[in-house]
Amino acid sequence: MIILRSISAVQKYIKKIKDAHKTIGFVPTMGALHQGHMNLVRQARQHHNKVIVSIFVNPAQFGPSEDFKKYPRQIKQDSLFLDDEKVDAVFYPTAEMMYPRGYLTYVNVESVSEKLCGHYRSGHFRGVATVVAKLLNIIRPDTIYLGQKDGQQVVVLERMVKDLNFPVKVKVIPTVREKDGLAMSSRNRYLTETDRQQAPVLWQALKLAKQMIVSGVKDPARIENAMRAHITQNSQAKIQYIELVDKNTLETVTECRKNFMIAAAIYLGATRLIDNIIV
Ligand code: AMP
Repeated sequence: MIILRSISAVQKYIKKIKDAHKTIGFVPTMGALHQGHMNLVRQARQHHNKVIVSIFVNPAQFGPSEDFKKYPRQIKQDSLFLDDEKVDAVFYPTAEMMYPRGYLTYVNVESVSEKLCGHYRSGHFRGVATVVAKLLNIIRPDTIYLGQKDGQQVVVLERMVKDLNFPVKVKVIPTVREKDGLAMSSRNRYLTETDRQQAPVLWQALKLAKQMIVSGVKDPARIENAMRAHITQNSQAKIQYIELVDKNTLETVTECRKNFMIAAAIYLGATRLIDNIIV
């Protein structure tokens, strides 16, 4: 696996691939890799000649009181994982490289960035959209692979790709879960033992919502209340939000028909967990 540590090294490498008419599958990550990331990599491996992964803990998407400093960084272990999956190249940019002195340009995907998590994490999706736009320009992949785990991120980035005419296909890969249903996440390692035991309540609540919908319940408030009750009765979690929204616009739905997303964020201790399902 080739390790690329500068933008010019990436550009040289990409030029060779393009000259040879090979295709590129790209997986952007913040590292601390787990099987959720690996599933994206495997999909990319199946469909492209070359697979490139980026590992960058992007300061622009963290708020001042968020976990940028303590976000797990484990370059050696990540490299072993990627080597095992036969990734062709990994790009490790630095913050100085991505946002050099005098940097002024940001991508703001309006409306959808403000909803759900955006409401509580001001500027987060501006940071995500900006870094992904930059990575797409540097790497010029044929396909970018994203996880459904970050459902709002998918909506924001699909919108950006469409609105800004990026010549890239967006592939969304289903959420990979632990045996008990907890969505895999680099942040799960922050959970204490007790919190970890309670963490599956989020997925259980989403499953409960789906069952209610399948059995004919159409009222979003009833579904939300049932989810709230399940979470509060079975854990000490604090609910940040539970919302039933249109899966493209993220506008709140007034009736459960089709094409909507149920998204939720909870806190277990200091750890924030998010999850969603599309119904
Ligand atoms: P992150 O490193 O958390 O920024 O995630 C990088 C990519 O992996 C994003 O597209 C995530 O949505 C995706 N991802 C993270 N966790 C999972 C998971 N459990 N299942 C599927 N995709 C995931």
